[in-house]
Amino acid sequence: ASAPRPSRQAQPAPQQQPEEVIQRYMEVVVGVPDEDCIICMDQLSNPSTYELPAKEDRCPVIEPDTVGKFIKCGHTLHMLCMLAMYNNGTKDGSLQCPSCKTIYGEKTGTQPKGKMEIYSISQSLPGHPDCGTIQIIYSIPPGIQGPEHPNPGQPYTCRGFPRFCFLPDNAKGRKVLELLKVAWMRRLIFTVGTSNTTGEPDTVVWNGIHHKTEMMSNLSGHGYPDPNYLDNVLSELASQGITEDCLRAHS
Ligand SMILES: [Zn+2]
Ligand SMILES: [Zn+2]
Repeated sequence: ASAPRPSRQAQPAPQQQPEEVIQRYMEVVVGVPDEDCIICMDQLSNPSTYELPAKEDRCPVIEPDTVGKFIKCGHTLHMLCMLAMYNNGTKDGSLQCPSCKTIYGEKTGTQPKGKMEIYSISQSLPGHPDCGTIQIIYSIPPGIQGPEHPNPGQPYTCRGFPRFCFLPDNAKGRKVLELLKVAWMRRLIFTVGTSNTTGEPDTVVWNGIHHKTEMMSNLSGHGYPDPNYLDNVLSELASQGITEDCLRAHS
């Protein structure tokens, strides 16, 4: 194995006013369409019934009857409903259209602090005889949940760390690796929640981007050979807003 190349953990983005985030990615619709709001299911011509906590310095204001349209996908909904949805999420400065799932800005997650290391292994994976192997090692120590987690102030556990993951060291595998680094920086690889396998709450779990955790065996189903794996993980990354465009923007 070659020397490790650690990836640094992302720092949380500076707080932005939720109203500003909404108005960055949605524009006000003047003629209200005869449609229902996908969030509250009421007609857009009726005002949103969401009530926001009173705040002295709220500026700019979004009124209950303001209808907004997403700037790229064009879906319309109550801006106040979208604001309420944003306030219930991680408030990371990004929006996701609830209708078509288009992501505006950079979606980030709630992955706790840790370390992602990458190694090269000369041995080939089953199904990829023509190249070596990339090994990723994720290390996350136990800690205390932050405000973005299910039970702030309570501890979280970390089972099965460090976790070892494997990719073929070919062009597509290296592309997946680069996108996984972006996902790691955006705190999207892991989250704090309840384990699907053990039912344990308040523990660090995978966050919907599948990894291969077996190198030469396939006892768990998370091993090789799996001819569809790289394409599957690329589409899981894309559903989190991580595509080749992210690599171009960062280079
Ligand atoms: Zn609504
Ligand atoms: Zn949309």
